[in-house]
Amino acid sequence: MEAARQDDNLHAKVLVGLLVGALLGLLGNWLGTRDEDAKAVVRFLADGVAHPIGQVFLRLLFLVVVPLVFASLATGVSSLGDFGKVGRIGARTAAFFLLTTGFSAVLGLLLMDSLQPGAGFDPSVRAELLSSFGGDAAELQATAAASETKTTLEAANKWLDMFLPRNVLGAVSRMEMLPLVVFALLFGAFLMRTRAERREQMVGWLETVSEIMVSIVGFAMKLAPFAVACLIYAVVAKFGADLLAKLAAYVAIILGAYLLQLFVFYPLLLSFLARRSPLEFLRGAIPVMVTALSTSSSSATLPTSLRVAKERLGVRPAVAGFVLPLGATLNMNGTALFEGALVLFIAQVFGVDLTLGQQGILVLMCVVTAVGAAGVPGGSLPLLVAVLAQVGLPPDGIAIVLGVDRILDMGRTVVNVTGDLVCAAWIESKEGPRGT
Ligand code: ASP
Repeated sequence: MEAARQDDNLHAKVLVGLLVGALLGLLGNWLGTRDEDAKAVVRFLADGVAHPIGQVFLRLLFLVVVPLVFASLATGVSSLGDFGKVGRIGARTAAFFLLTTGFSAVLGLLLMDSLQPGAGFDPSVRAELLSSFGGDAAELQATAAASETKTTLEAANKWLDMFLPRNVLGAVSRMEMLPLVVFALLFGAFLMRTRAERREQMVGWLETVSEIMVSIVGFAMKLAPFAVACLIYAVVAKFGADLLAKLAAYVAIILGAYLLQLFVFYPLLLSFLARRSPLEFLRGAIPVMVTALSTSSSSATLPTSLRVAKERLGVRPAVAGFVLPLGATLNMNGTALFEGALVLFIAQVFGVDLTLGQQGILVLMCVVTAVGAAGVPGGSLPLLVAVLAQVGLPPDGIAIVLGVDRILDMGRTVVNVTGDLVCAAWIESKEGPRGT
């Protein structure tokens, strides 16, 4: 009870931090438009002060992600008890991830197709945005080009590297989490086969690691209200209300779609699949949503998701430990929705019509890239550059929307992590009473 009250207090403070940071950012941006000296000071405060403070908070959270994903997934798998159960829960989880991600991508396309926010977009605004954010887009293109494949052998090796690299630590150091997930699944599965006393010892160790990581997060979260104000100031001071106005329709449609996901689609899944009260569930999930909003990172939100699922949403530890680390890495509904919507918007801005067949392929690409995207701020952007090129659109077109991406990233991360919790609730409801 006491912990829940502290949680609520902290999250109220984080929301105030968001608001204060955004208002200061708008003010700074406005001052900067009136005077060059003021602009230099505002930029210095954004890059030299607010950015590093925000990063200390984010990096403290990232610091715990690797040990936490490994420890919670390995204990989650091993405490499921037998291979059959792991297979059953694994198959259900994978089906949920794929179907909801596919649905989300289709929703993004449908909304953009019917509302056409990019049709008739002012060509001079388009040119202005392309030149202002062209540098950032070029960096993304360079990242995308580095992982491009030309031959079948290269493509095969790329897929292998995605799941089974020669060196797991090398992949992890680049924040590529899929190999770690595969390793943790194998580790947990074969831990089940070791002698009972050895197994218990190892599970005890892993649980201690998880516990320590969660405590570090608790410490980092104390910085959250202040750090979040800094993070949002650094973004808003640079783009201001002006840029937002130019892309208002695009931003509003995507944010509206996120709300549909959160308050219509997920409640339906909760009522019909998990048989629980959506209102109570969403209320319990608030700490997770606020953490996602403030970090724009599914990975950094994982410790909070694990704690909330167990303590506030009644998900048993083995199910939470299995579903949530997988979800934070693989299940990104908000990202798939955003990707589909962004590609169609860019197509509309450039006056390109994508046929129904092309849009079908686009849905598949959104699902695959959402699974592959890293759960970090802007994790899906380098993959999106490749998707744009694949459907015949100029990859640097992404520059048009880069300036407002942080806002959408906050929103899509909330949808991503809430989807993971909904999946955990469904799996929990299928498992029957505890101890069976
Ligand atoms: N920031 C998102 C997440 O961590 C990934 C993305 O779509 O950029 O879930």
